[in-house]
Amino acid sequence: MLLPMPTPTPTPRHVPISTGDIAFLTRLVGAAYVRHAADLATLDPGIDPHNRRATCELRPGSTQEVAAVLAYCHAQRIAVVPQGGRTGLSGGAVTAVGELALSLERLNTIEVFDPLSRTAVVGAGVTLAALAARAARDGLAAGIDLGARDSATLGGLVSTNAGGSAAFRHGTMRERVLGLEVVLADGTVLTELCQVRKRNEGLAVERLLIGAEGTLGVVTRIAIALVPAEGPLATALVAVASLPAAAALTHSLSASLTALEIMSGNHAASVCRALGLTDLTELATAPYLLLVEMTAATAAAAETVLLSWLDTALEAGLVVDGRVAHNETQRQAFWRVREDWAVDREHPGGLWFDVSVPLSALADYVAALRTRLQVYDPSLALFIVGHLADGNLHLTLNAATPITARYAELAPLVTAGLLEAGGSFSAEHGIGLEKKATLTRLASPQKQALMRQLKALYDPRGILNPGKVIPE
Ligand SMILES: Cc1cc2nc3c(=O)[nH]c(=O)nc-3n(C[C@H](O)[C@H](O)[C@H](O)COP(=O)(O)OP(=O)(O)OC[C@H]3O[C@@H](n4cnc5c(N)ncnc54)[C@H](O)[C@@H]3O)c2cc1C
Repeated sequence: MLLPMPTPTPTPRHVPISTGDIAFLTRLVGAAYVRHAADLATLDPGIDPHNRRATCELRPGSTQEVAAVLAYCHAQRIAVVPQGGRTGLSGGAVTAVGELALSLERLNTIEVFDPLSRTAVVGAGVTLAALAARAARDGLAAGIDLGARDSATLGGLVSTNAGGSAAFRHGTMRERVLGLEVVLADGTVLTELCQVRKRNEGLAVERLLIGAEGTLGVVTRIAIALVPAEGPLATALVAVASLPAAAALTHSLSASLTALEIMSGNHAASVCRALGLTDLTELATAPYLLLVEMTAATAAAAETVLLSWLDTALEAGLVVDGRVAHNETQRQAFWRVREDWAVDREHPGGLWFDVSVPLSALADYVAALRTRLQVYDPSLALFIVGHLADGNLHLTLNAATPITARYAELAPLVTAGLLEAGGSFSAEHGIGLEKKATLTRLASPQKQALMRQLKALYDPRGILNPGKVIPE
């Protein structure tokens, strides 16, 4: 339905959405797909309590509706925050009063599934779990996996350039995405949904939206490369005495490795306490635990490879203890030790960091960090989980009382030495609001200037996710 466009009101900044705007937008998407502040306040906000603070949420049902909404908001200078599953960990989906939340959840169709080419074209609102389930029917997998799989959407995964536990084999979303359909801030639709890996057709202008966290445009459809599904898995939870031992172990792992996750002993102990995993409590007294998963043509072959690796590692003294999962329940328990958030329930008000370090520098980085924290404030506790194979560590700092307000003071302790070691202060969760100050502090002036110029080009009125990612 084409509606007459109200005359734009020229103002230098975005303006709060009005009841007149909401009435107009309601006619674009249909009243059933509009939620007002009072409705939003009753809904689960997702990871961040501020995700539902917008004055209004729209759930358009097609790319054309997204385009019409953005064209209107661009003309009226209304701030728009794209949202997927609201599982993002950097505050990128946070909304404020006066803003419009744009949920892509209704674009939830797997439109093309091509097992021969191992590709799919999906709407931005398709969840990772839904794509994985569809792929499994043809012996394929999405090539990415993470704990928020049931809620995280493909649009969100693309927009945060998500990584997860399979990134060391299949890359982050930047490597998974073949093509995109995106709607720019003024409603322009750019359809670049190619389904091949090889494509050199000039500047890949749509690909800048990968990792842009909704600041350059709205992703509406994604062409994604799939991978062959893993065969049967064998899983072990092993204790290691030190980080140098953990890093050294990664060299001994073969091509059959499908997951290599790390947890500090205090994290594992907290989860074991919370979930009553008493048979794993002794293991959790080690400084670090590794979750090692391997695959082979048969379950027996996978277990043989795993046990042979474990024997060698024990003999070399790199592994000091370990358990092998004998059934799916035990395997799930091992993964819960890695993925459960007991630490945050036990000590609310902690600070999360998401860094990556080359494996060769990982042990030195963590040792230096521990020393800095001890010298600065011995009451701080450090908990670590991460995707070891990528050198990607999720660090939680907390203390007996909440330390959330101390981010600016503590972040430099965490980021010190990272760039010099060739690492990153923002590995896989994105910048959002949380890491913007860190980006402003650590990214080069040249990069920051280019980011501002690109933002002005893609979104000249600054309506998309204002205040996030792009340094002022
Ligand atoms: C338990 C748990 C485990 C996690 N594990 C991992 C992990 O291992 N690796 C990892 O990388 N991340 C992980 N995450 C973070 C999170 O799942 C990812 O950031 C995910 O990609 C976000 O998807 P979403 O649909 O929830 O996006 P949202 O949280 O809704 O949005 C995230 C950002 O993307 C933007 N956005 C969303 N959809 C669109 C769209 N269609 N177009 C434009 N912009 C859009 C939003 O504006 C926001 O800036 C985890 C989160 C949880 C809760």
